[in-house]
Amino acid sequence: MPAAKKSTAGTKGLQELFLDGLKDIYYAEKKILKALPKMARGAEAEEVQSAFQKHRDETETQVERLEKVFELLEKPARGKTCPAIDGIVEEGEEILEQYKGAPAVDAGLVAAAQSVEHYEIARYGTLIAWAEQLGKDDVVKLLKETLAEEEKTDKALSQLGERGVNQRAMQEMA
Ligand code: FE
Ligand code: FE
Ligand code: FE
Repeated sequence: MPAAKKSTAGTKGLQELFLDGLKDIYYAEKKILKALPKMARGAEAEEVQSAFQKHRDETETQVERLEKVFELLEKPARGKTCPAIDGIVEEGEEILEQYKGAPAVDAGLVAAAQSVEHYEIARYGTLIAWAEQLGKDDVVKLLKETLAEEEKTDKALSQLGERGVNQRAMQEMA
């Protein structure tokens, strides 16, 4: 570990960890906002396209909610590269490249979208616990609104898979 990082590590507490986590999810949400329209365009079934579009709109609100959180904390809204979301989005792009127009494309895209939701659910769950610990009740409320949307989206994606998308992926290509 570089010496410069080591020297400040001793002063870092939950406040710093929380702020770093917010920057991580802020970067992630903005990345997802850009990825969802591409996924919607690549999807075959109208129900999958509209699910992605709907969550794109929710994601826009989630970005604004995070900006409100930064404002409440009197910190500038700044993202910090999240290698995890970069990787998850890259895997989704791979599905698009390799399965575009194929019977399995929607099943692949739904699965890719679900990995995104699971990352977000993990992050928001932790951030809520830390905000509670820090006594930031107004922040907790905002983060919980987003977590509820991510959980609802995750369930909707499962239903898309189970009610037709996975079945259609079984078809052989003509
Ligand atoms: Fe989100
Ligand atoms: Fe991350
Ligand atoms: Fe989401």
